[in-house]
Order: sequence, then structure tokens, then C-alpha cells
Amino acid sequence: MKVRATRVLPGPAWAELGEIEIEPAGAAGPDVEVLIVVNEPIDLDLFPALRLIANYSVGYDRIDVAACAARGVAVSNTPGVLDAATADLALALMLAARRRLVTGDRFIRAGRWNVGWAEHTLEGREVTGATLGIIGLGRIGAAVAQRARGFDMTIVTVRRSDGDLDALMRAADIVSVHVPLSEETRGLITRERLALLRDGATFVNTARGAIVDEDALVDELVSGRITAGLDVFAHEPQVPTALLGLDNVVLTPHIGSATAETRSAMTRVVVDNVLAFARGAPLPNRVV
Ligand code: NAP
Repeated sequence: MKVRATRVLPGPAWAELGEIEIEPAGAAGPDVEVLIVVNEPIDLDLFPALRLIANYSVGYDRIDVAACAARGVAVSNTPGVLDAATADLALALMLAARRRLVTGDRFIRAGRWNVGWAEHTLEGREVTGATLGIIGLGRIGAAVAQRARGFDMTIVTVRRSDGDLDALMRAADIVSVHVPLSEETRGLITRERLALLRDGATFVNTARGAIVDEDALVDELVSGRITAGLDVFAHEPQVPTALLGLDNVVLTPHIGSATAETRSAMTRVVVDNVLAFARGAPLPNRVV
């Protein structure tokens, strides 16, 4: 069975695959049967023998699963093992944005210790007791809710089957996005919905950038009306330049699952799916 990956994955499970080819996603592979990717788009015409795409992330929004299904190519992902790490990052972004953590760090490095107190420039917004709107109450959304209860937050939720998104946007002090990117959720958070946020509210996105109208989010942030913590962007690795000079937004480069423990656990899941496929067993994490 010819297995190829677009990169070497971390952790001890990787060695169980033996020596495998590493090539960029765009390189043709006429005899490749299993392709391990990190949510890269794949041109199926380059892989006529392909039977499985094993994706090293829970989100598979850049993989054309309908085309894969039509061609008889299975797709697997890595759900569950990254919930805690991603939920932790969402909480970290809420805390950082509302308590002005990064600005405070910059003050110290600039030798400005006392300025915050004297001018109240580092005054933030409370996290404990805030109303948290969770958009998407799946695995990661539920892990965020569990943590938020420790901060005595009032939790309002929306999922596909339940909830009123406009009411959530109006009610929340903090909004945290946890839906997958799909044709249904692309642009779900429109300019009009962002305008419903209260003054001083905090918008946190650790899901996918294209779920929100990014231009509208930038406008809200430039106006200074809201704060934000953003791990994901509509056109990664590009980040809107207007955000780079703002201190009401905390920016991280898509690091939701980036802990040694979680990245290693994700590799275990990828390897388990590839080995199950090789044995002809059902895939533990089949998407299509
Ligand atoms: P999940 O368990 O499948 O949960 C998704 C939730 O979204 C469900 O509650 C679902 O509603 C809801 N939903 C789906 N479509 C919706 C719609 N149109 N309107 C409202 N709600 C909708 O997914 P997960 O494992 O928590 O992962 C969520 C996403 O997080 C992933 O797809 C990925 O994009 C992102 N992620 C990012 C990072 C990072 O590094 N930043 C790391 C991991 C994951 P129902 O409950 O009604 O079905």
C-alpha cells in the first residue's frame, strides 16, 4: 500500500507507518493509495489510485468530500482529541482580550510599568460572571461551556438544531465561535449580526475565519467598539493589515490544537485510521 504525507507528523505513533514518502499536496502521485494531509485542498485528478485521505485535523473544510465520495475515496479526521486544547485557547483569548494581557506585556517591555494604573489605559472587562454566547455546541463548544461554568458565566448557545443567533449576539458579553466551516456557515456572522454586539463585547474565533464577515469584523475592531481574540482568519496565512496596529485584538496563528500532547494524540488518530484502512477494517473516524 503506497502511503504519502504532506509533512512528517509529531509523536511516537508516526513510526508505526514505517518509511513513507513526504511530498507537497500539489505533487502528483499516480500510485498513491493513502494520502495524509493537514486540511490541504487535493486535486483528485493527480491521484488516480487514491483510496483514503487521512486528515490531520478535525476540520476538513478545504477537502472536497463530495468529490471524494463520488470517486470512492474515504476521508478521515481527528475529532475529540483536540477539544481540550482548543477550548483552553478560546478561554485564553477571552481572558487575554478582556484583561488586556498582551498590551500589558508590551507596556512592560517598553519600560512603562506605571502608565496603566495612572491613566487607566489597561482597564479591561470582567470575565467572571459575563454572559457567554457559544455558537456551535459540539465537542469543542461543550468543552468551552464546561470551562466557562468555572468562571460563573451565564451561557447562551446556538447549534444547527436549536437557538436564536441574533438573540445570542445581542445578549452576550463574549461570543465564541465553534461551528465547522461549511456552505451553511460561511459568512454566518454577517456585518448586521456583528452590529448587534454590545459595546465592549469580545468576539473570539477559534473555528474558521470565513465563518465571519472578516471585513466587517475589522471595521468593528478599528472603530474600537468591541475587542476580539482571533486564532483563525479568512485567508490564512494572511491577517488583515488593519488589525496589526490595534491593541483591542489578540492574534494567534491558528494554534488551537498546538500542544505537544494534543498534536501527538492527533497523530495517533491519523495512524489508527491508516492502519485500519490497511487491514480492511472500518475507519474509526470516517467523514465520508
Ligand atoms: P462538532 O463536534 O461537529 O460541533 C459542531 C457544532 O456546530 C454542532 O453543535 C453543530 O450543531 C453546530 N453547527 C453546525 N452547523 C451549524 C449551523 N449552520 N448553524 C449553527 N450551528 C451549526 O465540531 P468540533 O469538533 O467541536 O469542531 C468545531 C470546529 O472547530 C472544527 O470544524 C474546526 O473548524 C474548528 N477547530 C479549530 C481548531 C484550531 O486550531 N483553531 C482546532 C480544532 C477545531 P448540532 O449540534 O445541532 O449538530
